[in-house]
Amino acid sequence: MSHTPNRQDFDHYMAPNYAPQQVIPVRGEGSRLWDQQGREYIDFAGGIAVNSLGHCHPVLVDALKDQGEKLWHLSNVFTNEPALNLAKALVDRTFADKVFLCSSGGEANEAALKLARRWAVDNHGEHKDKIISFYQSFHGRTFFTVSVGGQPKYSQGFGPVPGGILHADYNDLESVRKLVGDDTCAIMVEPMQGEGGIVPGTQDFLQGLRDLCDEHNALLIFDEVQTGVGRSGELYAYKNYGITPDILTSAKSLGGGFPVGAMLATDAVAKSLVIGTHGSTYGGNALASAVALAAVEFIDTPEVLEGVKKRHDLFREHLETINRKYGVFKEIRGMGLLMGAQMSDAYEGRAKDILPLAIEEGLMALIAGPNVLRMAPSLVIPEADIAEGMARLERAIERLVAAT
Ligand SMILES: *Cc1c(COP(=O)(O)O)cnc(C)c1O
Repeated sequence: MSHTPNRQDFDHYMAPNYAPQQVIPVRGEGSRLWDQQGREYIDFAGGIAVNSLGHCHPVLVDALKDQGEKLWHLSNVFTNEPALNLAKALVDRTFADKVFLCSSGGEANEAALKLARRWAVDNHGEHKDKIISFYQSFHGRTFFTVSVGGQPKYSQGFGPVPGGILHADYNDLESVRKLVGDDTCAIMVEPMQGEGGIVPGTQDFLQGLRDLCDEHNALLIFDEVQTGVGRSGELYAYKNYGITPDILTSAKSLGGGFPVGAMLATDAVAKSLVIGTHGSTYGGNALASAVALAAVEFIDTPEVLEGVKKRHDLFREHLETINRKYGVFKEIRGMGLLMGAQMSDAYEGRAKDILPLAIEEGLMALIAGPNVLRMAPSLVIPEADIAEGMARLERAIERLVAAT
């Protein structure tokens, strides 16, 4: 008889760097999931802002099946039609002139940082090497990206970190002014901090960064790995602000669940990525590109993007209604369908305690740090699923309050 995998297998066979929930989902459709026992869940987590069209959306399944029967992979010794179509779709829809494809957000940011350094060497000289980023930011888990990220717990304990990296306070332009200079190569910033607690950048702050970069001949890099591809109510969050970066990185929602990443850049910057400077075996993989193209074309329509804004209002109304009863949240914030609810003082640090209760009630949600309940559902989640998910969230919160 074949072995049915269980949660103990995780502890036996998997590296111990994660602590997954006890239940093991086996099937998904839209914004609903079912576990091994057949219990059903509503998904407000979206695979951490990845499942942009929910689970097994027919448009993505069709793209995957169709390409899966034609051609999967070639390496970059050859190019392929889906990769070219995806790159064109991204260029046509954004500020960018050139696209580098890869397989994850961390890889897209690694490419962005390496490109920025190379651009500075090419155009200004070796001395222009300082990268400014922000405390609480998250840019991935490669060694360069954890070092640029503003959460020291992710970069400490691995030996000497790469140099030339400076951290400022998010939404505090003055703290950036103290660090910026003619040796600044780039400023890397999430237009809204995701892992750091769902903190939107202010218009003045992001505009100020743009101005400082222009003043000092530095590049502005927007990490839109979490905010990109419809999540914010626009294809990319920079469009909400009307502030254009020089480099933008995208992943998560881009593949709707298929691993894919992209770095977008202007011609003037991208031209430093000459033959041989960078690469990725899987970058531009035909299967990944076909799925991402289908996701981008489906999401970047007025219907879907307007729908995200409408659903944002619904999420906010439901959360406010829950909060009027239980007073657990201090602030409800976010953009589009990337929402955070910061716990009130009486429940400081307790956001993480909601998650197992929610699972018991049949709801998957997320946190962003111990103090913020985070939601990143499908961009097309049906209104009925929002209502039912919120009813389940309310029961979880009722239990949290009763047990306090
Ligand atoms: C998730 C995330 C990353 C890292 O993406 P991976 O695909 O896990 O490498 C980078 N930046 C931001 C803003 C993210 O949310």
